[in-house]
Amino acid sequence: MTAQRTYRGVTCIRCGQPISVSAQVVSLHNEIAHRLENLPHSFSVRCQMCEQESVYEIKDIRRFDGQPPIRLTKARYGPPIVFS
Ligand SMILES: [Zn+2]
Repeated sequence: MTAQRTYRGVTCIRCGQPISVSAQVVSLHNEIAHRLENLPHSFSVRCQMCEQESVYEIKDIRRFDGQPPIRLTKARYGPPIVFS
């Protein structure tokens, strides 16, 4: 195993953190790179750090070094569980 890991992603417009994109978006990026121009050029993705969902263009995708940010698990939905 090599420590040289990279991933494709975009930079969050809100907090500036890298957002990894799905394999589907990466394959779209690769297809557009091969001049298949009749494909959608934008996609929406949610930042895992600040949870801002925005629309990005395929051309905004760049390669980041390291590993994608880990999703923070937060109990956002439903009332808190209270033990009494
Ligand atoms: Zn963000």
